[in-house]
Amino acid sequence: MQESTLYGRVLGLANLGLMVLDADQRIVFWNQWLASRSGMAPPRVLGLTLVEAFPELSGKRIEQSLHTALANNLPSVLPQNQDRTPFPLFAAGTWGGERIEQSVTLTPFNEGKERFCLVEVADVSNTVGRERQLRGQAEALRAQSYVDGLTGIANRRHFDVALDRELRRAQRQGASLSLLLMDIDSFKAYNDHFGHQQGDACLTMVAEAFASRLQRPADLAARYGGEEFAAILPDTTPEQAAQHAEVIRAYVESLNMAHAPNAVHPHVTLSIGVASFDKDHLEDAKALLEAADRALYAAKREGRNRVIVGQPA
Ligand code: GH3
Ligand code: MG
Ligand code: MG
Repeated sequence: MQESTLYGRVLGLANLGLMVLDADQRIVFWNQWLASRSGMAPPRVLGLTLVEAFPELSGKRIEQSLHTALANNLPSVLPQNQDRTPFPLFAAGTWGGERIEQSVTLTPFNEGKERFCLVEVADVSNTVGRERQLRGQAEALRAQSYVDGLTGIANRRHFDVALDRELRRAQRQGASLSLLLMDIDSFKAYNDHFGHQQGDACLTMVAEAFASRLQRPADLAARYGGEEFAAILPDTTPEQAAQHAEVIRAYVESLNMAHAPNAVHPHVTLSIGVASFDKDHLEDAKALLEAADRALYAAKREGRNRVIVGQPA
């Protein structure tokens, strides 16, 4: 079958490995592309079975797929996620180093009474490399991201950077700055009752609800942790911050989102701790966060669904 006609010439020039196997998996056609990447010229492989030509393929997926293709006359594409380099093929003329990454297609066909299978081997090393590079870049971008993947509001990293920046500004300008820390009440019960997926949907709704109550462009709504949120409110006194917190608390309660039967309240609610920058007592991020956290836990202790304004320790 190895042709010396125009077609044979064309198949020899193709930038693709082409081989034809007969019903006994014997190689009856082998193009130049395969010869130069396997180190085996046609005379050496013609008449051999695929496994005789490549003993390492014995019992491998490709051998089984070939068998199935020939027996059932069904074409198939070998999945690349299992073996990217099924044939020992190397960049033309190198026969060493790394194997070419391959995409392999099997196409059975009948010629007269005989069944054959065309095996096409494409070099996808470049595609695979590019894919890997793009995936790496996407991961790096996600790692640098400032947005919480679930809720779409600022993430913890963004919050930390913004709090530092706003604190320095408040110190420089002698301005006020407040911080709200909020935590969904009985959220474990919510997850246990409705399932984690609906828990995620609830988190997203609460995040959107509370973010929508912040009015100034400089205000920052962030997801602080699992079911905890935070807001940075520049130029906001403790009294104003307490009012904002109360607006947020009342708004979330007014949404009447059904809660689990054994939650403390019948609807989804927030407890909120408030702390404000004070150059003599609460002068850094750590002290401010601790004060807001203490206030938040006081709100939990006193029954939840409430706002407490924290004092310096
Ligand atoms: P409390 O009123 O005292 O805050 O009670 P709680 O049950 O809300 O408090 P706790 O901190 O014990 O539970 C928080 C729960 O939030 C536990 C955890 O399974 C859930 N959680 C944290 N992060 C996520 C998340 O990303 N998705 C979902 N669905 N649940 C989360
Ligand atoms: Mg919590
Ligand atoms: Mg909670």
